[in-house]
Amino acid sequence: MLGGQDDYYGSSFDQRIHRTHSSSASFARPTVKRLIPPAASSPSVAAAMRGNRAKDTGPELTLRSALWRAGLKGFRKHVGGLPGRPDIIYGKRQTAIFVHGCFWHSCPRCKIRNPRTNSSYWREKLRRNKIRDRIILREIRRLGWRPLRFWECEIRASLNVCLAKVRRSLSLSMRSG
Ligand SMILES: [Zn+2]
Repeated sequence: MLGGQDDYYGSSFDQRIHRTHSSSASFARPTVKRLIPPAASSPSVAAAMRGNRAKDTGPELTLRSALWRAGLKGFRKHVGGLPGRPDIIYGKRQTAIFVHGCFWHSCPRCKIRNPRTNSSYWREKLRRNKIRDRIILREIRRLGWRPLRFWECEIRASLNVCLAKVRRSLSLSMRSG
């Protein structure tokens, strides 16, 4: 167990070294202070924190099976190489779909309140997520792809509207060649 921890610290140390050496490269990132997550204050918060990293979440599965049923097949999931690693992509039609959890991505409809414990951590964390999302969407567009972002509440409440948006994006890219 201890050995594992050593490996962990060792690897993050290597990354720091690597970053220092590559700082003169063209792809220089601004230095951002790392946010250290606080210990979860309750089991439900712990579950939510794990949920941040989860792939194949409920709403995502719902959307994928609906796409399949609607005949909008031929998508791939979690493909690397595109900014933000979209949840679903239609490669030929250059459509990238993001399924966003309402809490983690600050859904404008749900307006979920920040947890009261460690509120400054959460405020900063969610603020960064929002900025990151904006950059990712911009980058995707810049690469000539059409990004679609669906909120989990949207998928729950109006799946057909989501499907219509996907259908529209796919047909638009067919028209433009
Ligand atoms: Zn929402």
